[in-house]
Amino acid sequence: MKGRKLLMIPGPIEFEPEVLQAMSVPTPSHVAPNFIEVFGNCLELMKKVWMAPNGQPFVIAGSGTLAMDMAAANLIETGDSALVISTGYFGERFKDILERYGANTTILKVPIGETVKLEDIEEVLKKKQYKVVTFTHVDTSTGVKVNPEPISRLAKKYNALSILDGVCSVAGEEIKQEEWGIDIVLTGSQKAIGVPPGLALLVASQKAIEVWSNRKTFVSNYYAVWTNWLPVMIAYEERRPSYFGTPPVNLILALEVSLKLICEEGMPSRIKRHQNLAAAFRAAISALNLKILPKSNDVSANTLTAVYYPVGIESAKLLAKMIENDIIIAGGLLPETKNSYFRIGHMGSVSSNDLLAVLGALELALSELGHFYEFGKGLKTFQNAILLANDLSH
Ligand code: PMP
Repeated sequence: MKGRKLLMIPGPIEFEPEVLQAMSVPTPSHVAPNFIEVFGNCLELMKKVWMAPNGQPFVIAGSGTLAMDMAAANLIETGDSALVISTGYFGERFKDILERYGANTTILKVPIGETVKLEDIEEVLKKKQYKVVTFTHVDTSTGVKVNPEPISRLAKKYNALSILDGVCSVAGEEIKQEEWGIDIVLTGSQKAIGVPPGLALLVASQKAIEVWSNRKTFVSNYYAVWTNWLPVMIAYEERRPSYFGTPPVNLILALEVSLKLICEEGMPSRIKRHQNLAAAFRAAISALNLKILPKSNDVSANTLTAVYYPVGIESAKLLAKMIENDIIIAGGLLPETKNSYFRIGHMGSVSSNDLLAVLGALELALSELGHFYEFGKGLKTFQNAILLANDLSH
C-alpha cells in the first residue's frame, strides 16, 4: 500500500484486520443479547490468556494506567505499606498512584538495564509487613523484563498481595497467574492483546477480592471501585444484562476477536514466537554494532527492544530517516536519558517480515547517517537466527 507506514512502537501496535473490522459494525446496545454473549466470552477468554481459571476479570473503558489505578484504589487503605519494585518509568508511576491512595511506599530501584535482586527484595520484606508488592513485568521505558514467578512467591511468603503491571507483557510474555500465585495481573488493550487503545484489563485473584471486601474504609475513587464493577462483570459472565457505566461496546467486540485469535494460536506457541523473534532481532542489533539497554539476554523483553544510538547519531535524525523509509519507531522514555536511545515494539501479531522491514530501514538509515558496520549483516544475522529457530521447532 503506497504511503502506508508500519507502526513498530511499543504500543499501540499494528492490529489484525479482523480485529479492526469487528469495531466497524453498527454499535449494538450494551444489553443486547448478542453483546452480552460477546462480553461474557471476553471474560472467559481472558481467564485462559492470563492462565487464571479462578480469577475475576475486569474490562473497563480506559488505558493501562486506569488498570493500575483500579488495583491501587481497591486494595490500598490510608497507611498501608506498599513495596514497589522498579525497573524504570512505570515503577515510578505505580509509586505515585499508590501514594495517591495513602500508601507508605518503599521503592527498590536499580541502574538502567538491571533488575532488582531477589535477596534485596527478601531483605526488605523481612523488615516490615507490606500489604502489596508491585512489579513491572516488562518496563517499556527500558525493555527490561523481570521474572514474575519468584517475586510473587516471595510476596506470598511474607503475606503480601502481588500486583503485576503486565501492560507490556500480557499475551506476549509467559504469565501463569494462578500457578505463580499473582494476585493482580493488569494490562491495556493496545499492546500484545492486539486491540486499539481504550480498554483497561485486569484479572484479580479471589484473595485480592477478599482483601478488598474486608476493607475498613471506603475506596476513595468513584469510577474504578469494584463495588460498581464486580456485579457488572459477574452478570455478563452469567450472560445477564447489567449496567454501571456504558461499556465501550465496539472495542469489546474487537477484544473478543483478538482473544479468540490469541487462543487459536495457543499461548505456548505465541510466547515462543515472541521469544524467537526477539532473540533474532537482538542478534541482528548486535551485528550492527549497536548496544541494547538491558544488561543481558535473560533480562531482555520479548515484546520490545530498547537500543542506544551509536555515538554521533542524533535521535531526531534517525527517527526521521526511519519514517522516510515507512517505519515508525519510538524514541526513549526515561526523562534523563530519552535522547540516548530508541525503542522498537515487536509484540502481538508481529511477524519476521515486519522485523526484516525494520532492519532494512534501520540499515539504510544508519548508513546514511555515517554509522560504521557491515552493510547487510543485521538482515543476514536475523534471517539465520530465524532459520535456526524454525529448524529447532521441526
Ligand atoms: N505500564 C507499562 C509497563 C506500560 O508500558 C504502559 C504504557 N506504555 C503503562 C503502564 C501505561 O499504560 P497506558 O499508556 O495504556 O495508560
